[in-house]
Amino acid sequence: MKELEERILKDGKCLLGGILKVDNFINHQMDSALMFSCAAEFMRLFADLKIDKILTIEASGIAPAVFAGYLMRVPVVFAKKAVPKTMSTAFVTTVTSFTKKRDYTVFVSREYLNAGERILIIDDFLACGNAACGLADLCHQAGASVVALGFLVEKSFQGGRDLIARATPGARIESLASIASLDNGIIEFNARD
Ligand code: 5GP
Repeated sequence: MKELEERILKDGKCLLGGILKVDNFINHQMDSALMFSCAAEFMRLFADLKIDKILTIEASGIAPAVFAGYLMRVPVVFAKKAVPKTMSTAFVTTVTSFTKKRDYTVFVSREYLNAGERILIIDDFLACGNAACGLADLCHQAGASVVALGFLVEKSFQGGRDLIARATPGARIESLASIASLDNGIIEFNARD
């Protein structure tokens, strides 16, 4: 998606360890118009799929997921990183954080993922694929199926696509900007289709 790539080139900063800092429009300050455009693109890409619900993870997946849910007229559930007192029973999984290099536990109440539901997973980044695999695991625990995954930014050189393709066979995987390399502080995109 040209608009997102241009914004990444304008405002993205390459940090050590293959991390792209996009705090200015995704991870801290959010560009709501851009997030809405990204959601509209997800809607276009997944228009032929029957989707019952969108699942994301707090915090930065929530903005594009909510706009996509609004456009697709489906509910949006976000996995939580701490169990609220109001949650009685939950599906639970462990995810290794790419940016913090530690494991954390994520939860979704059993009320909000149900057997037979067709789920679209949305997140801000696809790096090694651990967050998306954790979300897919929560769906599988519930007996729901992951029909598609959409990411704002994929860093293809970190291999996450293969991991999630194995974890969610048959699901469609789309990213709106695909980065081939961040070497030497230079952002290089993969060619668009
Ligand atoms: P993965 O689990 O695919 O290795 O990493 C995805 C998660 O790590 C995303 O939910 C995102 O929050 C975070 N992440 C991974 N790589 C980056 C990055 O380059 N920049 C930012 N801002 N977050 C990242």
